[in-house]
Amino acid sequence: MSPDVQQTTDDLRYLKGVGPKRVELFAKLGVFSIEDLLEYYPRTHEFRPPLFLIKEIKPDFNVTIGVIVDQVRYNARSRPPRFEAIVRDATGFTRLLWFHGKYLVDKIVPGMKLAAWGKVSHYKNALQIVNPRWSIVTDIDYFMNQQDFGIPVYPATAELTSQAIAKIINTSFDKMIATVKERFDDKFLKSHQLISRRNALTQYHKPADKPQILAARRRLAFDELFLMELGLALRKQNIKIEANAISMSVNERLDKRIRAVFPFELTDDQKNAIAEICADMNNTQPMSRLVQGDVGAGKTVVALYAALLAVSHHQQVAIMAPTEILAEQHFLSIEKFLAHSRVKRILLKGGLTGKKRTETLAKIANGDYDIIVGTQALLQKDIRFNDLALVVIDEQHKFGVLQRHTIANKDKAPHYLIMTATPIPRTLAMTIFGDLDISTIKHLPPGRKPIKTRLVQPDQINLAMNFIREQITKGSQAYFVYPRVQADPEQELAEITDADEQPATIIKAAIAEHQRLQKNVFPEFNVALLHGQMNHVDKKQTMDDFRNHKIDILVSTVVIEVGVDVPNATIMVIENADRFGLAQLHQLRGRIGRGSKQSFCLLFGESKTPQAQQRLDVMVKTCDGFKIAEEDLKIRGPGEFFGTAQHGLPELKVASLIDDYELLLLARKDAFQMATDDPQLKNRENQPIREALIRKFGSNLVLANIG
Ligand code: ADP
Ligand code: MG
Repeated sequence: MSPDVQQTTDDLRYLKGVGPKRVELFAKLGVFSIEDLLEYYPRTHEFRPPLFLIKEIKPDFNVTIGVIVDQVRYNARSRPPRFEAIVRDATGFTRLLWFHGKYLVDKIVPGMKLAAWGKVSHYKNALQIVNPRWSIVTDIDYFMNQQDFGIPVYPATAELTSQAIAKIINTSFDKMIATVKERFDDKFLKSHQLISRRNALTQYHKPADKPQILAARRRLAFDELFLMELGLALRKQNIKIEANAISMSVNERLDKRIRAVFPFELTDDQKNAIAEICADMNNTQPMSRLVQGDVGAGKTVVALYAALLAVSHHQQVAIMAPTEILAEQHFLSIEKFLAHSRVKRILLKGGLTGKKRTETLAKIANGDYDIIVGTQALLQKDIRFNDLALVVIDEQHKFGVLQRHTIANKDKAPHYLIMTATPIPRTLAMTIFGDLDISTIKHLPPGRKPIKTRLVQPDQINLAMNFIREQITKGSQAYFVYPRVQADPEQELAEITDADEQPATIIKAAIAEHQRLQKNVFPEFNVALLHGQMNHVDKKQTMDDFRNHKIDILVSTVVIEVGVDVPNATIMVIENADRFGLAQLHQLRGRIGRGSKQSFCLLFGESKTPQAQQRLDVMVKTCDGFKIAEEDLKIRGPGEFFGTAQHGLPELKVASLIDDYELLLLARKDAFQMATDDPQLKNRENQPIREALIRKFGSNLVLANIG
C-alpha cells in the first residue's frame, strides 16, 4: 500500500460536511485525520438555558433563543454607552442590549444568525435580554434541535466556528468512533475506575450531563499522562540499554584528595548529591542526573567534584553553559578552587579564530586539556575530544530535555550531569523529568544571612536612597535593575518574558536612570551601566570593574540575572518590580546574599494587577526557591511556568500536571511498569499504545527502538 492510500482511509474529506476548503481550515487547527478530530477536544462545555421561541419568553426566564439580527445600533452618548440589536425568529421580535458594547460594532451585524442566552427583562412594555452571552450559528434549525445540555465549545476560528465543528463531529460520530481502539484491557480499566476510550470520547464530545464529562475527562487525561510517562520511561531505558560509559570508581583516598580542593566543609545536601553522582559514575550505564538547587546553593562545587573524579581517571570533562558570560563565570569559579592544581583547563571562547583555534582544538582532540569550559553552541559544534567521559550542562532555567545527548564522542557514551537553578517542586520534577535522576540541593551553605526583602512605596524612595547611601559608604556595592534599556515607548518589552499584560506605566529605562543616579542622586559614588546591547568586551570590562570594586553601583537590565557572583554586592534594587515575573525576581535577588554581610532587596514599583501584587508579596514573604517555584506555578499555571516549546514534552490537551497530580502518579507507575515488562512494545496487546505513542512523539530519535 502506498502512503497515499493509507492516508485516504483516514481522510477527513470523506466526512459529511467536509470539503477541500474545510480540510484546509482544519489543517490550520492541526487536525489532519479522523483521529486528530476525535482528539480535537472541546475547550469547555456550555450549559445553556433551555431553548425558547421568542413568542414564549417571559420576564425573569433564563432562555436561549436562536435568532436573525434585524438591526443594530451603537449609542455612544447614553450613560453608559450601549449596543443594541433587534433580532427576530419566525415567531416575533425582541431586543438584545449590551452596556459598553462598543466592541460589538462590526461583530454583530444585520442578517447574522445568532444564539443568544441570558435572563429576560421588561423595559417600556417590551421584553429584552441585557448583556446576553451569544455565539454565531450557521444553521438555526439545527441549533434549535440540539439538546439543551452540555454543548461542547471547540476552539474555533472565524471561518470554522465551534458550531460547525460540532456539527461535523456529530454527523459522522458513529463512523469516527468505530476507528478507535481500546488501549487497556477490562481488568486494568476496572481497577483504575476508567471508562472505555470510546465511551470517553463519546461523552466528551456529546455529553448528556456533567458527571459524564468528568468521567470522560478523567479517562482522556489518563491516556495523555500515560503516553507522556511511557515516552519518558522508554527514553530512560533506551539510554541505559544502548550506551556504554566508562565506569569511574572513587575510594577514600581519592575522595579526600578531591575534597581538599574546597576550602570549606561540604553541606549535607552537597554530600548526598556527590554520593549519588559517584554511584552513577561507577556504572557503565551513562549517568543522566539533574542537580537542582537555588542560585548559590553550591551546585558548581558538586559539578567540580564530579569533574575531578573523571580527571583523576584520566578522562576529559566538558562544562557547557548557555551564554559566554556564564561560561566565563563557571571558569572563574573553577579557577578559584584549582589555583594550585595541575588539572589542565581551558575556557573556549567564541572569538577564537585562525591558527590559535586550530591549535587549541588539536590539543583538545589530543587530550592535552582535562576540563574544557564553553557555551553549549561551541562545544556541540565541531569539537573532537580524546576521552570525554563527563558532560556537565548548566541549563539555568531552560529545560532542553530532548536535545541533550548530542555531543560528539568516539565510541564511549559520556556521563551527563545537568544543573538547573530553577527549583521545581520535587514531586513534579520527578514526573516531568521522568528520564532523569534527580539530586536536590535544598539548603544553602552555612553562614549566609537570609536576604531582607522590602517593598518600597513611591513616598519612601528618598528614605530608601539614603539607606543605600549609608550602606555603600560602609563599603557595600549595589545593583539597580530596570526592565528596559531605553525609554522608548515603541520598544517592545523584549527583556521581560513572563510578566503579564498590564496597563501602561512609566517604565524606567536603564540608560536614562544611570545618568540620573550618577548626576543627581549619588554623585559621590561610581555608577556604571551594563546592558545586553553593549558589546562583549565592554560588558566584560564593566563586570570586572564591579568585581574589583572600582564600581559602587551597577545599573543594569536583566542581563545580570544569571552568573554574576560578587559577594560584596549586598543591595539589589529592582525598579518597576511589578513588571517582572516571579522566577525572574528570584533569580535577580539571587545575585546578592552571597557573602556573610546582611543583604537587602528593595522592590520599587506599584502593582497594577492582583497577580503582580501576589508576586511581590511572595518575594517579601520567602527566599526559598522551592516555595517560590510552587507559588509561581500556582499563579501562572504549568503551561506558562514551563514555557511551551522549552520542556520538550508533548502538549497536554485535557490533563493538567497540577490538578491531575494523583492521576499523573498512577499513570507514571503503570507506564514505567510497561516499559520494564515490554521495553520494545512488542506484545500484541500493547500495539494500540505503541501506535498512539508513535503518533504522539513522531519520529523522535530516542524512541528509535520501538519505531
Ligand atoms: P550554584 O552553582 O548553586 O549557584 P555555587 O556552587 O556557585 O552555587 O556556590 C555559591 C557560593 O557558595 C560560591 O561562592 C561557593 O564557593 C560557595 N560555597 C559552595 N559550597 C559551599 C560550602 N559547602 N560552604 C561554604 N561555601 C560554599
Ligand atoms: Mg553557579
